[in-house]
Amino acid sequence: MFASVIIDQDTKALNREFDYRIPSELKIEKGFRVLVPFGQRTVQGFVVDVKETTDVDLKKIKSIYSAVEDYPIIKPEMLELMKFMCQKFHLRLTSVLRLFIPSEIREGKARELFVKWATLAGEVDMEKFNRAKVQRKIIEKLQNQGKIKLLDLKDEFGQSAVKALIDKGVIKLELEKQRRVPHSTKQEDKKVQLNDMQKRAIAAVSDSGVYLLHGVTGSGKTEVYMHLISKVLAEGKNAVMLVPEISLTPQVMSTFKARFGDSIALLHSSLSAGERFDEWRRLFTGDARVAVGARSAIFAPLDKLGIIIVDEQHEQSYISESNPRYDTFDVAKFRAHYNGCPLVVGSATPSVDIYQQAKEGKVKLIEMPTRANGKELPKIQIIDMMNELRMGNSSIFSTQLIADLANVVNEKKQAMIFMNRRGFSSFMMCRECGYLAKCTDCDVNLVYHREDNRLKCHYCGKQYKVLDRCPNCGSDKIKQGAVGTERIVSELKEIFKDVKILRMDNDTTSRKNGHEKILEEFRSTKPAILVGTQMIAKGHDFEDVTLVGIIDADQSLYRGDYRSTERCFQLITQVSGRAGRSKFEGKVDLQTYSPRHYVYKFAANYDYKGFFKKEENLRKTAAFPPFSKIIRILFAHSDENVVRDELKSCYNKLLKVRERYFDDIIYMDAMKSPIKKIKNSYRYQVVVRLKLDHCDEVENEIFKCTEGALKSSVFFEVNPESMS
Ligand code: ADP
Ligand code: ZN
Ligand code: ZN
Repeated sequence: MFASVIIDQDTKALNREFDYRIPSELKIEKGFRVLVPFGQRTVQGFVVDVKETTDVDLKKIKSIYSAVEDYPIIKPEMLELMKFMCQKFHLRLTSVLRLFIPSEIREGKARELFVKWATLAGEVDMEKFNRAKVQRKIIEKLQNQGKIKLLDLKDEFGQSAVKALIDKGVIKLELEKQRRVPHSTKQEDKKVQLNDMQKRAIAAVSDSGVYLLHGVTGSGKTEVYMHLISKVLAEGKNAVMLVPEISLTPQVMSTFKARFGDSIALLHSSLSAGERFDEWRRLFTGDARVAVGARSAIFAPLDKLGIIIVDEQHEQSYISESNPRYDTFDVAKFRAHYNGCPLVVGSATPSVDIYQQAKEGKVKLIEMPTRANGKELPKIQIIDMMNELRMGNSSIFSTQLIADLANVVNEKKQAMIFMNRRGFSSFMMCRECGYLAKCTDCDVNLVYHREDNRLKCHYCGKQYKVLDRCPNCGSDKIKQGAVGTERIVSELKEIFKDVKILRMDNDTTSRKNGHEKILEEFRSTKPAILVGTQMIAKGHDFEDVTLVGIIDADQSLYRGDYRSTERCFQLITQVSGRAGRSKFEGKVDLQTYSPRHYVYKFAANYDYKGFFKKEENLRKTAAFPPFSKIIRILFAHSDENVVRDELKSCYNKLLKVRERYFDDIIYMDAMKSPIKKIKNSYRYQVVVRLKLDHCDEVENEIFKCTEGALKSSVFFEVNPESMS
């Protein structure tokens, strides 16, 4: 018998199957991980097919050395998924396979944890220990507790006493497998009576297919998800529940833990290697039956899926931003289809794209238009900051916001202040000549951080000394530009001297559990103000938050891509959703310099449908997705000549494609990327916009044109999140 093997090395040259003989003494099936000879070396590979014949010369064919496990580590469904993903996203076989197995397991870096336990070997003659006081205490403790971890014993009583007892044969040691449990806060399971709206939503999810659960913030979607999962578990099937990394808060995790206990496995980026290893293994063996996690949990090694749920469907983080690039939604759709189970995606602000699909009947729409507790959504007041300027107020805060904050403080409630950027202020700019401080490796603006008085590059992390003179013209009028979370905090502290003011952004949460500590402190302090970035926008359920302030709503509007208005609408709705979730009424102060922009009108009225209609019209007219397809191919290399040459030869081939599909291509051009350099890699790109009619076919033709680029790293994106 022969095996088709994919070599576990992610290069263009090895992106195919290699045939090996299966020695008769080895039992090998599809999905096995094996060790094989490759050139002069021994490498790891994955068996994707087992067959009776091969085209390889039988005199030359090599044999598999051994199997790594005695079972297939890649299940049949995942082999099918691999083929689908390679085709759909133009990826290499190995890059896809690597997504299916955590690197801890694939690289053999983590293994099961065994812990030594101490017990008494038998009856002990206490007389013998009259003078060895410490040893006596150890024995008594073991008599009481039966068994104790060796490490704990040593910690409490010291090495030598424990060792002495082991040497005398009084203590015997046992090895026991120990599960590493991801940290989550303890919480009681909230038992709520489902309301009619929730019951209807649950009943609507009946058979396979894609469902869009459009429910306002606080409508009780989580409860719907959990009931759907319970139903599936009762039928003996398994479930996957995805949440964006950013809203994978301790609160969300403990809610699920409280309901499902140990049948949950958590998969997210802050797990330790050992924790990830154990959680993944528990899913693989069936000990855990619900995978809860961020994007990559869609690859959970569960079979018999009964449901897949994707919360906060509109979140960008469901599309991986780096190689291998894939869209979680497409993967989820594949798995749901393979298992014949429903896929439920939920959001208060669905993407224009998925709502259009619902409109066309490709996705079934379920609506939850009111909050679960019957409370109104908070009132959103649009505050014209140009007017504030005219009135002589040039500070970050409007008079209204300060007055409302004072109210919150008086009533001992809580407020959240949201802003789009981190850092004390964004850019360092010369007021004389316009010079902007940039990273030498990345060609992006540096961001000033007050805490350590440094300029930092947010793309590569490189740090620079703060400038006191402009390197271009010598002027000392070099200053920070716009405001950030740090500045807001320091100005609020001046105004509200005795009030607790907390900050949450990438900088304050980089330490382990940093997130949780800030949230806990906020939860237990009243009055308090929490200032933060995107991180405070989602998933949090604080009962005493009665005010939300949005500082620079416009920020997200002028990013210059066709989705910026959509993003702005989503952000306002999500942030506003944090206010007035419980007994108390909530209010939102939305500060903007363009108060008449249509997005604010719709957002302030929570009019998603109105907003969608407007966007739909605009995008139809301008031929933007979902009414067209945008393809961006990014070439990057440290040698600018290499990228330019490879881009050029790709573009020449593309010109021929355009001749053949002239009517299908709306736009095509090659250019330097807006960010010309990242980590010393030069970046060039081709952008193509396609009509929808034959877009899959044309996309494949376009992809073929990139295959000649062997030196540059090539990143192929459909409807990219960012063009920079
Ligand atoms: P969403 O995810 O839709 O924004 P959540 O699922 O976080 O909303 O629910 C908002 C709040 O409403 C939570 O505190 C939740 O416990 C509560 N809740 C959910 N369903 C009910 C219900 N049927 N009755 C009362 N409270 C509910
Ligand atoms: Zn940099
Ligand atoms: Zn200058």
